[in-house]
Amino acid sequence: MARTYTHFINGKAVAGSSGRFGDIYNPSTGEVQAKVPLASTAEMRQAVAAAAAAFPGWSAQNPQKRARVMFNFKSLVEANMDQLAALLSAEHGKVIADSKGDIQRGLEVIEFACGIPHLLKGEFTEGAGPGIDMYSMRQPLGVVAGITPFNFPAMIPMWMFGVAIAAGNTFICKPSEKDPGVPMRLAELMMEAGAPAGVLNVVNGDKEAVDAILTDPDIRAVSFVGSSAIAEYVYATGTAHGKRVQAMGGAKNHAIILPDADLDQVVDDLIGAGYGSAGERCMAISVAVPVTNALGDELAKRLKPRVESLKVAPSTDPDANYGPLVTAQHRAKVVSYIDQGVKEGAELLVDGRGFTLQGYENGYYLGGSLFDRVTPQMKTYQEEIFGPVLQIARAESFEEAAALPSRHQYGNGVAIYTRDGDAAREFASRVQVGMVGINVPIPVPLAYHTFGGWKRSAFGDVNQHGPEGVRFYTKVKTVTARWPAKGGSREGSSFVIPTMK
Ligand code: NAD
Repeated sequence: MARTYTHFINGKAVAGSSGRFGDIYNPSTGEVQAKVPLASTAEMRQAVAAAAAAFPGWSAQNPQKRARVMFNFKSLVEANMDQLAALLSAEHGKVIADSKGDIQRGLEVIEFACGIPHLLKGEFTEGAGPGIDMYSMRQPLGVVAGITPFNFPAMIPMWMFGVAIAAGNTFICKPSEKDPGVPMRLAELMMEAGAPAGVLNVVNGDKEAVDAILTDPDIRAVSFVGSSAIAEYVYATGTAHGKRVQAMGGAKNHAIILPDADLDQVVDDLIGAGYGSAGERCMAISVAVPVTNALGDELAKRLKPRVESLKVAPSTDPDANYGPLVTAQHRAKVVSYIDQGVKEGAELLVDGRGFTLQGYENGYYLGGSLFDRVTPQMKTYQEEIFGPVLQIARAESFEEAAALPSRHQYGNGVAIYTRDGDAAREFASRVQVGMVGINVPIPVPLAYHTFGGWKRSAFGDVNQHGPEGVRFYTKVKTVTARWPAKGGSREGSSFVIPTMK
């Protein structure tokens, strides 16, 4: 019997009452393993009320006490790493080692958030005027919410609630309805770590729950990560309702390969970054751009056997390079992109569509696919595929190659491979993409830097985590204070704007 999830509101499990449920599959076997309640607006209101009630007490705790809860939480997640990774893999399909990486990258944001006493320190100017000091402080917003995608069910919720809660806000997480098990466990562990009830709530659901967040008058800010069309909708609707919104979207990440690059390293990196987690990463490399046709021939020749020999297996297989895709529907979508690529005239060097795994015929597996001679006019180049499909788009010159990521609708990540420091430096400076790797395939910034793409990869101006995350979840207040010296003269009324003349 499939188990039935609940919501997690005000420190306890709350059964879904909307009467609507979604299925959670085990992508490795195709079985339904759980049911998830899909919240109504009324259920979301219940969570907002709990978070609002918890806010005054939580925000009044001194930042060091809030940091101690984050320290405890980090230890608890580490102690539960194996169980969390097993749950994550069972719902998502990524291999266990990769699930641990997903959790670890989230924990790195928690480590960053443990420094919140330092991060919230304001600025101070002594003697800004006669007897006048000026100082600024950062204060939490109140109730804030995060809406997260299926592909990083541990890391992305922690990107958001780690910083938000440490800064003194209370939080509602609306995880992906495809794999909400880990976010639910993380909320329980936050309570165990000492966060009061209502500080972190998880409300499961779909569009109805998202719309309830976007229109709720008591939610001050919304963080979103997911596909671009929804990100744009979330940004437009949330800001129209007076909220601060950061909404990260889809991606098409290019790797530019110059003729002087270390080709062995390039091939290793493209295989890992293109096919790891079945390509279901917003920072996956999906387009390789070799500069010169001769390099294109050599790259295609070397990649082909490596793609053919990828080991695709259940998420529990320790030798698997990657596991199944998340759902049958998503698998069908990736297959339709491969069909389309063939129709458009790209050269399919490796076709993963026929792949099956004995004993796991109902799992959502797809072999690795490799396209060559992909051009910017093709739909499969213009859109995000989000599967184990790497496309080679050849270029004749550095300029032609460098223009591709800059002109693309998405601008999340990009990589350049070269031994030429000047070319790499110029590329990093000019490219219209938010995160750049130089001889690094997946340039995901560490927690104390900040994560965010450009163009249709992100809507809103403030990035995730790092100093920008702290800015997103706080508002600044600046105080000008005058303490006239005893016996000093009064200045009388002034009808002129005060200046520092
Ligand atoms: P998705 O857009 O389908 O879902 C994301 C969230 O939006 C989920 O919580 C979902 O319940 C909700 N949602 C879905 N449809 C909705 C609708 N019509 N109205 C309102 N809410 C809706 O994305 P996904 O398939 O879960 O995740 C994969 C996508 O996320 C890819 O496009 C990937 O590139 C992107 N992604 C981006 C980043 C980044 O930082 N830029 C990181 C990870 C994933």
